[in-house]
Amino acid sequence: MIAMAMACQPQLLIADEPTTALDVTIQAQMLTLIRDMRAKAGMSVMLITHDLGVVAEVCDRVLVMYAGQVIESADVRTLLRHPKHPYTMGLIQAVPHNARGKKRLYAISGNVPSPGEWPQGCRFAPRCQEAKPICLTQNPPLLKMKDGSECRCWLHEPIATEEAAEGTEAL
Ligand code: SF4
Repeated sequence: MIAMAMACQPQLLIADEPTTALDVTIQAQMLTLIRDMRAKAGMSVMLITHDLGVVAEVCDRVLVMYAGQVIESADVRTLLRHPKHPYTMGLIQAVPHNARGKKRLYAISGNVPSPGEWPQGCRFAPRCQEAKPICLTQNPPLLKMKDGSECRCWLHEPIATEEAAEGTEAL
């Protein structure tokens, strides 16, 4: 499939879960192949994955999505070291590597709502341990943070910029 896509000499390669169901050795080969192709062809790669290990290895910038919305966006180092959204924090806590020495692997309680059945307010509120009253009635906009990342959560103070204001209006 990758060979077929590359034959068209794309400027952008969209790879949707390219390492799912592969064993660790083949996964490593696949990630090396994608990195090499990106460097040689000078193209961009949009990687869609649920595997934070893969994200850490090959990505420059990360957008975390929940219930059809981007809820956090940052360069990979900032996102993995200083996650801001409770959902991103939960994802990182749930990585088995981070559970070493603990009896149970962390899991975010509850389930993702079905499309079209989004809760009122923040879509993550029914599963969020940090939820406040405003979270139940108003969906937060995606706003710029001081470190250049973006976060959709009422827990954080955005920087006041024109873009931020536009983002609020759009929602
Ligand atoms: S807006 Fe509220 S409910 Fe949503 S993630 Fe932030 S704290 Fe949790």
